[in-house]
Amino acid sequence: MSLKVLLIRPRPHKETIGLQNVMICEPLELEYISSNIEALGHKCIIIDMILEKRPISYFLERLKPDVVGLTGYIAHVNIIKDYAKQVKSFDRSIVTIVGGVHAEVNPGDFESKYIDYIIRANGIRTFIEILNKIEGKENKEPECVYHKGAKPPKKETAFKYLYPDRNKVRRYRSKYYYMFHRNCSLIKTSFGCPYNCKFCFCRQITDDQYFARTLEDIVCELKQIKETEIYIVDDDFLVGRERILKFCDLLEKEHIHKKYLIYGRADFIAANEDVIRRFKQVGLRAVIVGLESCDSKQLDDYNKRTNVAINEKAAAILKRYDVECYGTFILGLDWTKEDFKALYRWIKKLGLIFVNLQPLTPLRGTEIYEKYRPRFIVREDEFEKWDLAHLVVRPDNISVRRYYWYTILLYYLITVNPASAWYMVKKYGLHDTLKLSVGAFKVNIQYFKKLIGGR
Ligand code: SF4
Repeated sequence: MSLKVLLIRPRPHKETIGLQNVMICEPLELEYISSNIEALGHKCIIIDMILEKRPISYFLERLKPDVVGLTGYIAHVNIIKDYAKQVKSFDRSIVTIVGGVHAEVNPGDFESKYIDYIIRANGIRTFIEILNKIEGKENKEPECVYHKGAKPPKKETAFKYLYPDRNKVRRYRSKYYYMFHRNCSLIKTSFGCPYNCKFCFCRQITDDQYFARTLEDIVCELKQIKETEIYIVDDDFLVGRERILKFCDLLEKEHIHKKYLIYGRADFIAANEDVIRRFKQVGLRAVIVGLESCDSKQLDDYNKRTNVAINEKAAAILKRYDVECYGTFILGLDWTKEDFKALYRWIKKLGLIFVNLQPLTPLRGTEIYEKYRPRFIVREDEFEKWDLAHLVVRPDNISVRRYYWYTILLYYLITVNPASAWYMVKKYGLHDTLKLSVGAFKVNIQYFKKLIGGR
């Protein structure tokens, strides 16, 4: 028996302060599910609700699936539950399955009479096992499905699956982008991160384990990708200088001419200027760097294992090789106006234009969750507000309104101002700058609503 499986990527709630205004990336995890279950004879369709204008009911009516799979992050929990309810209202016999990083760390959040299976670990394998059970090929319950009170299952430490089926989202592909990286394709080459920053949720997903695919396998996958812009979505791609140098050699040897956006740590960049120079020669275009703070004490508190001097050196190296630095920062909950000003001065000194400012958000599962829990000002079931942009903890020294106001100001002074706009127009063209500006404007409007509402 072959099953018809509908996989859905949700559209964020209107309350969620939206990165989707400046980036929409392909649903890689669903493309992996698709290729791996179709190889077993099932039929799969992916719909991307960020880009779809039609409601879920339209697709249910047209496709009449046997199984619906849903995935998302913490901010999508209520949306996913609502989708599952719509599915069951349409036809109770459709089996609903939820997976994704939030489901793996906090599966209980998805408990609902409309959801049949919550995948707790090893998503692709478990999805296949669930389909086998539905088909009657297996009697026993899949090992990594969530059961209240049961011990968390062991997570895989190797990744041996078929490549994602990128054709499944062919009709959306031209709309996928990350800021100025238009028609951007995603690839994942490693899982987890060898570091242990206290605020980091990524670590929880692989139970603090780190493992990587072979470079030969990655290069083979890259050759099959049509797009030039590649976004390597590893938590940290710059792990091990020998691996990166070998990757560069392989790209050259195989005549792969693409442009890369990656995540990397400041300490690696600062200590390996030659690697950045080499990577630039074969296509490195931008690095998202968790700079986090301009205060070494705060970096220590986060267990970041870097300091301000390292951050400054890393930013200078990227600038030297004309590699864009997208700096991500954590705004402290004990900050005053002076701290916001200090960060502004420091970012200006570094010459950064693209920043992501996140108030410290103690997600459940991280080391800092319990410490801040008594001070939450956003209910834990208001998942749509847990987007790393809302202030979820009452700040120590200033009001919530002031906090949002200083955040908006900081964004304006760094990114959304005439000098930065001129830099972007010169480098990326008027069309792309205008598009990004419209997205940034929409994000600002959302922040202003927070400011007016005061929470
Ligand atoms: S913040 Fe970055 S470096 Fe730190 S643990 Fe998370 S992924 Fe690793």
